[in-house]
Amino acid sequence: MSHHEPAHHLTPAPGAAAQPAKVTLVGAGPGDPDLLTLKAARALAVASLVLYDNLVSREVLALLPAAADRIYVGKESAHHALPQDAIIELMLRLARSGRPLLRLKGGDPYTFGRGGEEAQALAEAGVPFEVIPGISAAQGAAASAGIPLTHRDHASSVQWVTGHLRAGADAALALDWPALARPRQTLVVYMGLASLPVLAAQLIHHGLAPDTPAAIVERATLPAQRTLVGTLQALPALAQEQGVESPALILIGGVVTLRALLAPRAVDGEEAALDEAQTLATAL
Ligand code: SAH
Repeated sequence: MSHHEPAHHLTPAPGAAAQPAKVTLVGAGPGDPDLLTLKAARALAVASLVLYDNLVSREVLALLPAAADRIYVGKESAHHALPQDAIIELMLRLARSGRPLLRLKGGDPYTFGRGGEEAQALAEAGVPFEVIPGISAAQGAAASAGIPLTHRDHASSVQWVTGHLRAGADAALALDWPALARPRQTLVVYMGLASLPVLAAQLIHHGLAPDTPAAIVERATLPAQRTLVGTLQALPALAQEQGVESPALILIGGVVTLRALLAPRAVDGEEAALDEAQTLATAL
């Protein structure tokens, strides 16, 4: 074993336990620790060995026992702390060492973020595992920005898509644009910041009205949450001007107009962690 491998000191040497320990894939939710499920909070409270991603908030990590061993495996496109196959390999190695492992992932483990691939690897390797669902960024952002995902007046369906398009000439072909451009639905785009200009242009090209309401929710449910609202056409420039950073979720569709009424407001005597609401579009 190389001394440069992460966490080598956590692996008992030599050899592995007869039975691999259980791996629990836990959804850490969108950031606010109060949005963990009770089951996730209980698993965190007794964890001794934790593998976590960059989207897991400090506030959630603070719920781990002080003595728990934590291994950061990053994962943000472009600068992975560890590539996905190395994460999987490390996970399998730790499980085989016999220590129960808590694999903490942002949002919901089975919604983007490759939890499905990790579970697949565990199943194929015969490692027992459990999945604890989490509130995904879409649900967190919807509630904290005041943008319902469906509404009888605006959208009878919602599509959660990844904006993480492949680089190169076929980038624009990676999504089913005609289906995404259909009216009366809400589009929720994960990992869409880098591809936002392509996304907006393709949706408009395939028939979605340029003045369709659209929003970006940055750091949803965290104290520094920020929401920008505009039209589909104006959103890429707005995101650029305002220096929006990851993690950010893009919401497109008529439901965005509801924010004007539904955005959470401070209640007297309550220290509400509220969005510094910036409604910049005149069209809305
Ligand atoms: N499993 C996660 C998604 C992982 S993909 C989930 O269910 O939420 C990572 C993307 O999720 C980010 O690029 C961003 O688009 C979105 N995201 C996650 N947390 C977010 C947050 N607090 N605010 C806004 N977007 C978030």
